[in-house]
Amino acid sequence: MRVTACRVCAAAPLADVLDFGTVALANSYLPDAAAAAMEPRYPMALCLCQACGHLQINEEVPPADLFRNYLYVTGTSDAVHQHGRLLNASLSAVLPSGRQAAPFIVEAASNDGTILALFKKAGWRVLGVDPAENIADMANARGVETWPTFFSRQTAGEIVARHGRADVFLGRHVLAHVAGLHDFLDGVRAVLRDDGAAVVECPHVLPMFTELQYDQVYHEHLGFFSVTVLRRLFAMHGLELFAVREVGMHGGSLLAFAQPAGAGRPEEASVSRIMQREAEVGVGTLEAWRGFADRVIRQREALVAELTTLRRQGKRVAAYGAAAKGQVMLQWCGIGPDLVEFIVDKSELKQGRLTPGTHIPILAPQALLDRQPDVVLLCAWNFADEILRQQKAYLDRGGRFLHPIPLPHYL
Ligand SMILES: [Zn+2]
Repeated sequence: MRVTACRVCAAAPLADVLDFGTVALANSYLPDAAAAAMEPRYPMALCLCQACGHLQINEEVPPADLFRNYLYVTGTSDAVHQHGRLLNASLSAVLPSGRQAAPFIVEAASNDGTILALFKKAGWRVLGVDPAENIADMANARGVETWPTFFSRQTAGEIVARHGRADVFLGRHVLAHVAGLHDFLDGVRAVLRDDGAAVVECPHVLPMFTELQYDQVYHEHLGFFSVTVLRRLFAMHGLELFAVREVGMHGGSLLAFAQPAGAGRPEEASVSRIMQREAEVGVGTLEAWRGFADRVIRQREALVAELTTLRRQGKRVAAYGAAAKGQVMLQWCGIGPDLVEFIVDKSELKQGRLTPGTHIPILAPQALLDRQPDVVLLCAWNFADEILRQQKAYLDRGGRFLHPIPLPHYL
């Protein structure tokens, strides 16, 4: 469904930034060639609301199509576990004083319960909400109560009726996926105690802009937030942004802390400091984003030229990381099995399948040693340190990793 008005402020029309054409859903891994032949594709363009500065895509695929068999399982990455421990420490710090005994946390899009399990271990009462039934089942099986549904105003009401209000609401990488932002944020306010806190993590539009992270643009990601836009959005729902942290997950994310209006925590200097930087770069302006689009086109030319040269020299190329973000770049650049023989990924759910849109076979990481390609395109560049550590044997045998952005370079 084409979207013509801003999801935050309802202004219309949206200004075009970059048209990706028609692309396959970045998380729809294909079981075989027959499925690949029938693969649906959807239009997608990146747009800007010039009224409030919110960057967003102009297309909505029905959520049931997107998430029914979602294959991203949080537990597959070491960095996620590390991040969970960090989250636990910073969330404990925002708890109202005197409420340290068995605080209650509600997490939206809680995936397989990896993060909530860490909180449970630390003595919290936990409840997860996740629409992917197969993954909610995994969470329940490990003892993290998880409701297989979307978080909304209505879900919040049912949570409060069954378990009471929450001390902390956590939403990691979910806001970008939500079409009904206003219903979702009504739910956040409704589920929280008056002295509670909401912690929302989302990709930050500032590093996306400066580091050319256009590989985050796919149908699941409807919007890309600045602190400036987040603050305004929260305020529309009786929530005050009081602190912001910049964190490394997914290549540059925000942890935004909000509270019900009047809860009394003072606004930290971090909020105005980051908003100032956003204003200097101009992330709310069409001029800045048209420049971004020009850089994306130049990156595509450089990456395709490098891969074509390697093939012409008889070199063999593979890729690492069949996450959604890599799929967008491969499709946008037109990189298929002719340029990249295979992709490796640690997720057993993806191994044996084909990548969406480009139909490259997905294998286990062991294939890098079994087949020793000359170059590996690092689609999962956000986990570069972890991957290079794990692939020491491949590197020792002369393998090389090619990092694709902001311009292709070898690590
Ligand atoms: Zn707007």
